[in-house]
Amino acid sequence: VVVRLKGAVEATVRRYSDPERLVVDLSLKKEASTPAKALPDPPRSRPPKPPKPVVLLDPGHGGVDPGMVGYVVEKEVVLDVALRLERLLEREGIEVRLTRDRDMHLSPDKREDLSRRAALADSSQVNLFISLHVNATPTRTAQGVEVFYFGRAQDARVLTQVIRENGGGELGKRLTQEARTVAERILFDIVAQANQRYSQRLAETLGRKLSQTTGSPFRGTFPGDFFVLRYAKVPAVLVEMGFGDHPAEGRRLADPTYREKVAQGLLSGILTFLANGAYAR
Ligand SMILES: [Zn+2]
Repeated sequence: VVVRLKGAVEATVRRYSDPERLVVDLSLKKEASTPAKALPDPPRSRPPKPPKPVVLLDPGHGGVDPGMVGYVVEKEVVLDVALRLERLLEREGIEVRLTRDRDMHLSPDKREDLSRRAALADSSQVNLFISLHVNATPTRTAQGVEVFYFGRAQDARVLTQVIRENGGGELGKRLTQEARTVAERILFDIVAQANQRYSQRLAETLGRKLSQTTGSPFRGTFPGDFFVLRYAKVPAVLVEMGFGDHPAEGRRLADPTYREKVAQGLLSGILTFLANGAYAR
């Protein structure tokens, strides 16, 4: 690859593996004020401590938007689980940010609300983005855990779910269409594709651990055109922690002891993922 540049530029080349990629950072060279002199040897010091990982938790919905309503109200369950998970993560020395820490919306306009959540995930100080949700289905017979990462929804069932989480109805369809154009662009973006693979791995780890800890069946991981995940540059997933309209699972989700288990399952998944080093800062 040959890159022609005008002017003085400094290049830093780094190589990463799994997936294999080469990252070249280019920055304008600062004017040298004095001719180069022999620099004294830098003092020998211990390598700096690695920075604390930062996890952004996004309890979905809130304020004017209750999310799904069944045996539980989605916005209440996801906030409670997020606050429990925050405590558990902090105990492990992991820094936590929340998109909301009480019953509030980020904007009464759904598009704006989801955009603000996504913008928080876009901040360079965040290593992982986890959006928390409760599932629902027209038949009210499904139960289990599903975890989504950003990509084109592959079947009608997932698409219905994506539209619901993107605001539902005509609005949900519009935002899904918008997210879909981004999902199509990923096919040509090698860095976004690498991040998608990390996100898929995070989704699998979270889903497996959540299911093991709670006993709720693991239904799998799926790509979906979620508006809130569309520009994430770090591993980002949307967790559907269970079905709030299932007679058994919905009632379990109302129980604080069970919610603590959900938080513990998510904690276990996050720790496993971070231990495997599959995240970049
Ligand atoms: Zn939701």
